[in-house]
Amino acid sequence: MSAILPGSTIGMLGSGQLGRMFTIAARRMGYRVATLSPDQDSPTGQVADREVVASYDDLDAIRAFARSVDVITFEFENVSYAASEAAEAIVPLRPAGRVLRTTQNRFREKTYLAEHGFPVTPFVAVNSAQELRKALHGFGGRGVLKTTGFGYDGKGQARLESEFDVDDVWPSYEGAPAILEAFIDFEREISVVAARGASGQFAHYGAVENRHRNHILDLTIAPASIPEAVAREAVRITEGVLESLDVVGVLCVEYFLDRAGKLMVNELAPRPHNSGHFTFDANITSQFEQQLRAVCGLPLGSTEQLRPAAMANLLGDLWEGGEPNWRAAAYFPEVKIHLYGKLEARPGRKMGHLTALAATPELAARRVWQAREALTSR
Ligand code: AMP
Repeated sequence: MSAILPGSTIGMLGSGQLGRMFTIAARRMGYRVATLSPDQDSPTGQVADREVVASYDDLDAIRAFARSVDVITFEFENVSYAASEAAEAIVPLRPAGRVLRTTQNRFREKTYLAEHGFPVTPFVAVNSAQELRKALHGFGGRGVLKTTGFGYDGKGQARLESEFDVDDVWPSYEGAPAILEAFIDFEREISVVAARGASGQFAHYGAVENRHRNHILDLTIAPASIPEAVAREAVRITEGVLESLDVVGVLCVEYFLDRAGKLMVNELAPRPHNSGHFTFDANITSQFEQQLRAVCGLPLGSTEQLRPAAMANLLGDLWEGGEPNWRAAAYFPEVKIHLYGKLEARPGRKMGHLTALAATPELAARRVWQAREALTSR
């Protein structure tokens, strides 16, 4: 395939912060970006050349959008398969629609991984309270119930501690396809963001540690303080996943590391990921520039990390007492402030993040934590 060069237009399905950071990277390299989503004045639209407001299910709008760009990528994986097919019939879609189809449904994704020999958290499809009870029993009475579609940041998830929880939890899942996963008493959570180019070139950002709060990513520490062999194994599995799915683009694999040192895939995201935001400031090539290079058929850039880093998310909750104290956070000279231009701060909504660079990952984590604390000082 011939490369899509600067001056060309990239079509971005989705208009959130991932699209915004992609657009900043793309415009820096002289590309134009058009975004399509149902939202107006979106985080991506604010920095893109063109913002198309349309439903992802409006296939005519998707086709018209496809005709106006040179390649399409996405930052939001719940685009319907029909929409991805309509786009693909006109212009290259990278990663391909079939990758979206596999990863946008937890049951399909986990089944695919298990069938291809990748280690995954034990899971069972459940369609009734009775099936849930049986599955829970099979997992020793503890599990996490998840809807198979439209799940992210812990949305559509419930933790069950015993069979007595079934009657409380099941009614809100009734009718929606769901899976029950065994509850993993993990030692820590890690992820690997990686990219695969059009000719199969592979690049990765190493294993990073993720700490969640209320099922939402709170802190990423890069690199993760784990044994070298575990980090290598995580990268090896990640490379296998990108190859197996024939991904052209960026994909993140999230893992649980259990107390015996065993890795299990929790989930895949076929796009840049929150746990790779630090690469914007800490690496030679960010995950967003890498997505651009991959989808345009350019050679991948170096993923070398220049300094240890830590990233802390800024959720809407921080706005509860009024506008955060940006001036106080700006006193930290090695902390970068990223805000996504979202107009309304709601609890749990990702409004921005901070990245700290330091001599060690631990120092970076402490620094980013302190800077975030400073945001609520008056
Ligand atoms: P997910 O949306 O599936 O990535 O889940 C969000 C977070 O919930 C994970 O990063 C974990 O912290 C927690 N979680 C999800 N599934 C499980 C599980 N099977 N066992 C333990 N914790 C889980």
